[in-house]
Amino acid sequence: MKAIYPGTFDPITFGHLNILEKAAKMFDEVILAVADYTAKQNYFTLEERLEQCKEAAKGIPNIKVISFSGLVVDFARQNNCRILIRGLRAVSDFEYELSLALTNIKLSEDIETVFLVPSLRYMYLSSSMIRQLAELDGELKDFVPPHVIKALKERVRGG
Ligand code: ADP
Repeated sequence: MKAIYPGTFDPITFGHLNILEKAAKMFDEVILAVADYTAKQNYFTLEERLEQCKEAAKGIPNIKVISFSGLVVDFARQNNCRILIRGLRAVSDFEYELSLALTNIKLSEDIETVFLVPSLRYMYLSSSMIRQLAELDGELKDFVPPHVIKALKERVRGG
């Protein structure tokens, strides 16, 4: 069975990769789907996020990294996929993730959201925290892969 793990990945972190590795063990194929449209102001462009995700996921054989625009349920249908993976961290994710999953059910009854919980050490890791840490020149090596650290440093230096 195939699953889609959609998100902004701005940037991809070890928390996302932890969820991706778990999903890759559960499903025959997982599409890491990098969203073009988001309600947030993106730090990295779609092309940058796509390249960062491809590099980060290259060691996992049954992963495909693709970008998408529009509704994730439409993207799922185009790919003959009925499973969406989302990560659940602390309680703070719950409201948002539940409303997103319910909206997707409303849009498409036959597509299910599967929630995966990360390992404890990634429970409080978020892309927004990483961006702040990078801006403040904090140590990043425990949270994101080396190529993402490089991209973050370049972005901070470039203003
Ligand atoms: P969004 O899709 O809301 O823009 P992200 O791209 O950051 O958010 O994350 C995609 C999915 O991965 C979401 O379900 C989010 O809750 C989950 N996620 C993000 N960071 C982690 C983490 N450290 N551990 C587990 N799941 C995570």
